[in-house]
Amino acid sequence: MKRNLLLTPGPTQVPARVCEALSRPIIHHRTPQFQVFLKEAIEGLKEIYQTKNDVYILASSGTGAMEASVCSLLSPGDKVMIVEGGKFGERWTEICQAYGIPTQVIKAEWGKVVGPKIVEAALKKDKTIKAVFTTLAETSTGVTFDIKSLGKVVKETPAVLVVDAVSGLGVEDMKTDAWSVDVAASASHKGLMLPPGLGFVSMSAKAKTLMVHSKCPKYYFDLRAYEKVLASVDTPYTPAIGLVVALLESMKMIKEAGLENRFAHYRRLAQATRKGALGLGLKLYADESCASNVLTSICVPKGIDGEKLVKIMRDQHGVSIAGGQAELKGKIIRIAHMGCLDEYDLLTGIACLEKVLRELGYRFELGAGVASAQKFLNGGLSL
Ligand SMILES: *Cc1c(COP(=O)(O)O)cnc(C)c1O
Repeated sequence: MKRNLLLTPGPTQVPARVCEALSRPIIHHRTPQFQVFLKEAIEGLKEIYQTKNDVYILASSGTGAMEASVCSLLSPGDKVMIVEGGKFGERWTEICQAYGIPTQVIKAEWGKVVGPKIVEAALKKDKTIKAVFTTLAETSTGVTFDIKSLGKVVKETPAVLVVDAVSGLGVEDMKTDAWSVDVAASASHKGLMLPPGLGFVSMSAKAKTLMVHSKCPKYYFDLRAYEKVLASVDTPYTPAIGLVVALLESMKMIKEAGLENRFAHYRRLAQATRKGALGLGLKLYADESCASNVLTSICVPKGIDGEKLVKIMRDQHGVSIAGGQAELKGKIIRIAHMGCLDEYDLLTGIACLEKVLRELGYRFELGAGVASAQKFLNGGLSL
């Protein structure tokens, strides 16, 4: 049987323990038994979010959690700022536009990030901005935004800071409270090692004040409904029961490993991937100063069809990586380091990349990528 190795930025691999939890018979959600699970799930999420704020659990993908954040906080005509540098950052703008919320967009060149100074200056000029939207790990380009610095800037203003942490949560450090992140949206199928289906939103007291006055039309994604039943440990509608139960198992695994150790683990995998790419003579797409530990974006060499490369790796060898999106289609490949992955998964991915790159006519010494990654992983030992 062919392998199915997911080195994709969502969905990610689901460990056996979590698969076992997913196979358990369903229980009813309006029961004391489920309440215990829900409470544990919320408490566990708070640890991963590094927050004391409330966290709402939705039955949705990551975009649902993003949309819920927009429509629950704002009113049509409210001014907001979007600080972005890629496809997922653009999504904030698209969601706001759908709700009649005018956006001021501060864009980074793709592969780079926006620094806090520009945001600070823009916020000083317009004190009526209600919210600043940004992205922790921009999965389309492979960069990580400096949320800590942005948090310091936004904290001093009336605006709230809303972060898309869909791909970053549990993979790249984000200290929600210490960094003054008011709202953070995330989901189950990236760093948390679950199938898609759960969306999460954390909300600070500052954001809750905004939420009370929000007039965007909404129903299912009205987070006030989730807030209202939180104290009685309940959900307004049927939760994704099976996924909540499985979340407890994946969070147990995260706790056993330790959050800091996991961040270090993904940092190491990301560094090894970069070394591997450089060993093959390939160029990295993301700027070195902000390269993400969540995924590595690599430029496809001239003359090689990036789409074909991804397709052959997946269809003939069972190794899934991602290609480029939008203007980067065919031009980059993206190797994710999130979820349930170890260094041997990564080395398999690099070995497969080498094989297919060679088939497609790219010239290099076979094994050079694996060797560079191995050297790094083994503390620079010569092979
Ligand atoms: C995957 C992803 C999303 C969207 O998530 P869906 O689950 O596909 O809706 C949003 N933002 C980032 C940064 C992502 O990586």
